[in-house]
Amino acid sequence: MTKVGFIGLGLMGGPMAANVARAGYELTVFNRTPEKAKHLADLGAYVAGSPKEVAARSEVVITMLADAVAVTAALEGEAGLLAGVAQPLVWIDMSTVSPDETRALSARAMEANVDLLDAPVFGSTGPATDGTLGIMVGGTEKTFERQRDLLGTMGKHIFYMGPSGSGALVKLCFNLMVAAQVESLAEAMVLGAKGGLDLRQVGQVITASGINSNLIERKIENITGGDYAPAFPLRHMHKDLGLMIDTAKSLGVALPTTAVNHQMFNAAKARGHADEDFSAIYPVIAEMAGLGG
Ligand code: NAP
Repeated sequence: MTKVGFIGLGLMGGPMAANVARAGYELTVFNRTPEKAKHLADLGAYVAGSPKEVAARSEVVITMLADAVAVTAALEGEAGLLAGVAQPLVWIDMSTVSPDETRALSARAMEANVDLLDAPVFGSTGPATDGTLGIMVGGTEKTFERQRDLLGTMGKHIFYMGPSGSGALVKLCFNLMVAAQVESLAEAMVLGAKGGLDLRQVGQVITASGINSNLIERKIENITGGDYAPAFPLRHMHKDLGLMIDTAKSLGVALPTTAVNHQMFNAAKARGHADEDFSAIYPVIAEMAGLGG
C-alpha cells in the first residue's frame, strides 16, 4: 500500500487524514501545533517532527493548510517538504489557494522532482468526517488517475478539471456563489428582523421555498440560534474572496458583487469575527441596521 504523508490537521485536515488512516494506508502526519495529531497517532499514524520527515517517509504527500503562506512555510526551508524528497514524489495540495499561486508552487515543486496536483474541496467538516467531500483536481491527468483511490477515501464527488490551477480555479467559482448566498441570506434575515418579523418564521419560509439548499438550511440554523462555532471559519472565506478578486483582475473579469462581499468580510474580520463561522456576517449586517445582532 502507498506510503502517504499528511500535513495540516486543522478542522478539515484532521478528519480527512483520519479517513486515509482508516482506509489502511501507511500514514505519516505533521501539524505545526502537534496536539492536533493525537487522534491520528491513536489510529496508528506516525507523527513526524517536520514536513521534511513526512516527505522522506512518503510516496505521496497531502497538504491541507490555511493558505499559500502556510503551504510555502511547509514546503521551504531546512525542515520543509522539499528538503526531504529522496525519490520522485507526488504532492496533492488540497488547501484553497489561487490558480496563480498553485502554478507557482507547481513550478517550484517540479524543480525538486515533485509532481503537484491541486485538489481543493467543497463540503465542510461534516463531509470531511464522512469522507463525502467534493474534490476538484488540476495537474497531469495520468498522475490524477493514479491517485484516484486515495482521493476516494476522502471524497465522493471527484472531478478532473484540467492542467495545473484548474482545480484551484473551479474552487473559487464555487465559493464565490457560497459567499454571495450567505451574504444575501444574512441581508434578508436582517431586513425581516428589523421590520419586526420573527427570525425563525423567516427561516421557515426560506427553507420551504425553491431557494432552499443544505447550505442555506445550515446557515439559517446558525443565525436563528446565534451559534457561530466554526465549520468554515470566516477568515478563510475572507481569504477566498481576496483570491477571487486577484484572479478576476489577472483574467480581466469584473466581479462587482464579490467585491462588495469582500469588503463586508473585511468589516466582519475587523469586528472580531475571524475565527467564527462565516455565517457570522449576520451580526455585522444586523449591527449596521441598528439591531443587537
Ligand atoms: P484550519 O482549521 O484553520 O487549519 C489550518 C491548518 O493550516 C492548520 O493545520 C494550521 O496549523 C495550518 N497553518 C496555518 N498557518 C500556518 C503556517 N504559517 N505554517 C504552518 N501551518 C500553518 O483550516 P481548515 O478549515 O481546516 O481549512 C484548511 C483549508 O481548506 C483552507 O485553505 C480552507 O480555505 C479550505 N477549506 C475549508 C473548508 C471548511 O469548511 N473549513 C471547506 C473547504 C475548504 P495549526 O494547527 O498549527 O494552526
